[in-house]
Amino acid sequence: MTAQQTATAASPASIEQQGCRFCGAKLNETFVDLGMSPLCENWLTPADLEQPERFYPLHAFVCDECYLVQVKEYVSGEEIFGGEYAYFSSYSDSWLAHIRKYVENVSDRLELNQESRVVELASNDGYLLQYFVERDIPCLGVEPASNCAEAARAKGVPTRNVFFGCETADGLASEGWQADLVIGNNVLAHVPDINDFVGGIRRLLAPGGVNTMEFPHLMRLVEGNQFDTIYQEHYCYLSLIAVQAIYAAHRMVIFDVEEIPTHGGSLRIYARRVEDASLEVHDSVTRIVAEERAAGYDRIETYRSFSQQVVDTKNGLLNFLLRAKAEGKTVAGYGAPGKATTLLNYCGVRGDFIEYMVDRNPYKHGRYMPGTRIPVLPVEQIAATKPDYVLILPWNLKDEIAAQLSYVCEWGGQLVCPIPEVTILN
Ligand SMILES: [Zn+2]
Repeated sequence: MTAQQTATAASPASIEQQGCRFCGAKLNETFVDLGMSPLCENWLTPADLEQPERFYPLHAFVCDECYLVQVKEYVSGEEIFGGEYAYFSSYSDSWLAHIRKYVENVSDRLELNQESRVVELASNDGYLLQYFVERDIPCLGVEPASNCAEAARAKGVPTRNVFFGCETADGLASEGWQADLVIGNNVLAHVPDINDFVGGIRRLLAPGGVNTMEFPHLMRLVEGNQFDTIYQEHYCYLSLIAVQAIYAAHRMVIFDVEEIPTHGGSLRIYARRVEDASLEVHDSVTRIVAEERAAGYDRIETYRSFSQQVVDTKNGLLNFLLRAKAEGKTVAGYGAPGKATTLLNYCGVRGDFIEYMVDRNPYKHGRYMPGTRIPVLPVEQIAATKPDYVLILPWNLKDEIAAQLSYVCEWGGQLVCPIPEVTILN
């Protein structure tokens, strides 16, 4: 079954009552309102095209107490991430190279060995833990999507098919999985109950244990105009200021931070329990918090100016597509990540502007984009139809994709990137 068939919306009354998902304050301040959008992983089958589709308000707020940027919960996390989930982490080469390097570095830094315990939250198809398995370091994945958990087990990565929170953490800890390292990559933004999740990390950590989390950095989102990374499945958009407050509330200390290039600019934090004082807090933490303060991330006015830059980007993309259309040029889309659904729905770009999308993930082939209903085909379709423009939707991977698509210039085709503003690549 697709998500569309199972998803039920929260009641309007309960949505109205939702406060900040960290501090509970009433949400009054708009960060950006992107109109109505469907769930971004709700790939349509040909039969679904005859059916109506459910759209949800895609309206990001910023809490004026703790500065956590967030969307309200219209669909529960269980419905989005449980059951079958179409995103397999192993489909990107550069992502796997990034992960392999991380596993090498963190294993050395924490001196992990056969006696250690490593737990990854939202372990997907085992893309990361496979490298710990290679090193004979005991590890366990926690993954709510059954198809991803199954794919991980097939690779030899032990995986529990459950959601993570305090209850799961207590269960794992009592079974001997108190962890020397708890990993969470691109999951902190995806959890509706961030207090239950971060509280669970604290409970799962062994004395002296370390937690590393990677998440897209809000400052990069704003600077890079990455508004298309806002979608229902991403409940929070995180500054270090906000994450530090959340961790402190759960008696944890962020003692180191690295800025990494993934997903348009992310942070990797290293955290420990407050009482494990042997790990000193590095300058990196104070430096990035100071940069955020200097850029105004502790003042509400800063957040109010984002909406206009989003409107400008939309107008730029539409102008480009209208001009291409007027000149009789053809446009195809490369890559159908979740952010493509936000971008295309918000800009109102459907099959009239983009003839088809291609993606490397076979799960999406023969299906249609949520909302805009643009067909998704195998990558070979580009060479077969020779479009004038190929719009690269996963702009965070644009260098890797441009190298893969170098053959497009053979027929005079050009590659186009929509974010931070529409640009023709050379
Ligand atoms: Zn708040």
